[in-house]
Amino acid sequence: MEQILTICVYCGCGCGVYLGKENGRVVASSPSRNHPISQGNLCVKGWHLHEFIHHPERLTTPLLRKDNKLVPVGWDEALDYTARRLSEIRDSNGPDALGLLSSAKCSNEENYLLQKFSRAVLGTNNIDHCARL
Ligand code: SF4
Repeated sequence: MEQILTICVYCGCGCGVYLGKENGRVVASSPSRNHPISQGNLCVKGWHLHEFIHHPERLTTPLLRKDNKLVPVGWDEALDYTARRLSEIRDSNGPDALGLLSSAKCSNEENYLLQKFSRAVLGTNNIDHCARL
């Protein structure tokens, strides 16, 4: 089994975890013994980290609500729709009518970019993060 060192995505602690890959699929999770944060430990979520990767209910495409149903769409359509609606809401109600919620499953760099986008592009400080709740 090939072992790939990475960081657990379930919370902001950033524990070191090896993902085990076999026949093109990720099939196991185990702790990195010398990782400076987790030092050989994982919580129960980290031990099960691999299980969502190939889960049949995992969302793999954007969904847009059309006629009261969530419909799979391409990224171009989803991003065009989102950009248009954010602009419409900001222009009609002001930037503080918008709020963004980021995720502990994103990297620090991605979270940094989202707060920059919120403050510098949309013009609102209404930005929060699930790991702080
Ligand atoms: S193993 Fe547990 S504590 Fe460590 S990053 Fe994952 S969810 Fe957080």
